[in-house]
Formats: sequence, structure tokens, C-alpha cells
Amino acid sequence: MTTTYDPVDARPRQRDHELRDRARRVIPGGMYGHQNATRLPAAYPQFMASGEGCRVRDVDGNEYIDFMCSYGPIVLGHRHPDVEAAARAQLDRGDCQNGPGEVIVELAERFVDVVDHADWALFAKNGTDATTTCVTVARSQTEKRKVLVAEGAYHGAAPWCTPAPAGVVPEDRAHLLHYRFNDLESVTKAVESADDDVAAIVVSPFKHDARHDQELVDPAFANGLRSICDDTGAALILDDVRCGFRLAHGGSWEPLGVAPDLSAWSKAIANGYPLAAVAGNDRFRAGAERIFVTGSFWFSAAAMAAGVATIDALGREDAVATMVRTGQRLRDGLAAQADAHGITINQTGPVQMPLMTFAGDESFELANIWGDVAARNGAYFHPWHNWFLSAAHTDADIDEALAATDLAFAAVATALAAR
Ligand code: PMP
Repeated sequence: MTTTYDPVDARPRQRDHELRDRARRVIPGGMYGHQNATRLPAAYPQFMASGEGCRVRDVDGNEYIDFMCSYGPIVLGHRHPDVEAAARAQLDRGDCQNGPGEVIVELAERFVDVVDHADWALFAKNGTDATTTCVTVARSQTEKRKVLVAEGAYHGAAPWCTPAPAGVVPEDRAHLLHYRFNDLESVTKAVESADDDVAAIVVSPFKHDARHDQELVDPAFANGLRSICDDTGAALILDDVRCGFRLAHGGSWEPLGVAPDLSAWSKAIANGYPLAAVAGNDRFRAGAERIFVTGSFWFSAAAMAAGVATIDALGREDAVATMVRTGQRLRDGLAAQADAHGITINQTGPVQMPLMTFAGDESFELANIWGDVAARNGAYFHPWHNWFLSAAHTDADIDEALAATDLAFAAVATALAAR
């Protein structure tokens, strides 16, 4: 990354640097996965200390208005009082036991209640558990093998779906076929090539591949997938892991009127507590009853109590409408700032899960400068992964963050002028 703006970061960083040194000795690569901060510009901390509402603090005490929300889970704001109280009350009674707490029934009832297509639900820990289980249920029910996924889509970190080829053998993906999002013809072609052996079509509510401008779903595409699944008997699997409960108070395609057979959930469903869900309709109930899926911690009751409290608070607080309002305020503010600085940006995706890119910035050089300066000035965005609003962001928080982004745009303008 070339820095043509002032790279001096006067904030305290010592604790973060010490911890990074220690981590490099005992953790592969110093850190792994999506939270590896070495993938981010220098101003981003690796280690976080605390969070409250829409603000987080790093281990050196630097505070940020948080627009990543832990990469999605924090939908009501960090440490939402009702969710914390529900989780704590369950922890005090018992969390990990020989059987689930009664709260698992309550949580499944909430899912069936809130999610239109759901007749049943089962729970796990991570999004990968949920997407993988959806595929297993689909194959169990249909007794077919092929699974269609969109090119470039992320559905988790298991060998069948991880984006990194290391450690994966061709057999892990032997029955995957690809289509292009919003391109029904490419789906039809993939189905035709599958010789009547399609178990499932997996799709995300909109195209939210990292490092790419986002793309909303064409309703005709969603309806077309539903028809293809109806014609072939394949399961329509909606991967709602990233969007679930942020786009709508039920499944993310409910506003479109397109019902999947199975949906995968995680991230926001328990406001930061480790919980994932698979929801399904009655056609796939027998398939779900036949498979064996489980995990030592899949029945932990505290996260389920947090899940019930989260779903209730989302409805009570009209969280989606709040995020749409503040997300629009952020989008309008960024558009006005970019314009004032003479910079061309693209803002894509739903306003509560936005992504901003710079025109012609294929290597994300400008995005990195922008994110770096915004972070140094107390606003935590991401240069190339979609952001997340929470219901805890207020108009005043957005305006405060916009003061930081104005400095970030100024730095980008300086870098452009120096080219
Ligand atoms: N599907 C989608 C759409 C996701 O965004 C993610 C996580 N980013 C996953 C699946 C996997 O979830 P997890 O990281 O919890 O396994």
C-alpha cells in the first residue's frame, strides 16, 4: 500500500503490538480467518477489549463507532441489556448439560412463528454448521447429490465451501456445480448438466461477495429458482447467515414472497452469542429426522436464551426500520462528502448492510487509505467487506462517524491528486 497521506498514528497502540508479537509465536499466522487484522490497514487494532451499544474499544483504549458489528452478529448493539440479562439468567441455572434446556423448544417456536417458510428448526453454533446441515438435509430428503452454488459466493469454511483451496481435495467438491447470481439461464444450464441429480440450489439473499460491489436480487431470479426447485424436486436453500434478521423481521426473501425450503442462519440471531439455526418446511422434515448432526456445544442453553431475547427485542424495537433509517443517513452523508471532494464512489447493497468502493480502485488502495484514516479518527469500517449497521446506531452516531469519514475522503483526495 502506498501512503501519500500522513501515516503517523498518534493513538496508543502498544498493547495491541505486544499481543500481536505474542500471538505470532503461538497462533498460526498470528491470527486466522476473517478477523486477522494483518489483512487490514495499519490503524486497525487486532485485539478488542469491550463494546457497548454501537461503540467498541480496543485493548489500548481507543474507541470506535462500530460499522462491522463483529462482522454481523451484533444487530441490537453490543451488550444489549435484555439479551445480556436472558443469557446471564440461563448461565446461572446451567448452560452445557446432558440435555438442552427447555429454552430450545421456545426458540424453535420463535423461529416457526417469525420465519414464514419454517415448520421446524434445529440449532448449531456457526453459519458453516447451518449451511452444511442444509445441504445434508437436502441430500437426505432428495437422495440426490449435486448442489448448485453461485460463483464467488461464501457459504462457510468447511472443505465443500471454503474459498481457499489449501487442504481441500477435489472429492470434497465433486458434486458442486456453479451458476451466476441473477442469471437464471446459468442455473438452467447447470441443472441440465446434472442429469436429474440435483439435491439443492444454495443462494444468498443478495450478492454480497467480499471485494465486489454488491447486487440486490432480481425478483424474477428468485421466483425462477423457486420454479426450478419445484420442477426438479431440489431444495431451495437460502443462506441467510449474513442477512438474517437485518433485512427483514422474518426470512430475507419474505418481502419478495419467495419461500425457500431450507434456510441457514447464524450471526445476528442471538446478538453475539454463539448460535446458528436451520429452518425448514414440512417437505424436508423427514430428511432432517434421518441425518445425524450434533456438536458438544450445540445444545448450550445460554445462547438459546439470548436468541429468544434477541428475536423478541428485534420485533419490539422495530430494529430493521431503525437500521434502514440510519443506514440511509450514512449513505446520503457519504454520497454528499464524496461529491464535495470530487471523488466517484459506488455504494451498493441494502443500506443496513452497505459497501462503498471507489471507482477504478481494483486493488483497494484508495479504500485502504479511507478505512485507515476513518479508523484513526474513531469510525470502524472495512475497506472491502460489507459493513453492518445495528439498531443501536443513532442519527447522532452516524453524524459523528461522518466527521471521521470526511477526513478519510480528504486523505483519498490528496492521494488522487498526487497520482
Ligand atoms: N454464509 C454466509 C453468507 C456468511 O456470510 C458466513 C460467514 N461470513 C457463513 C455462511 C459462515 O458462517 P460462520 O463463519 O459462522 O461459519
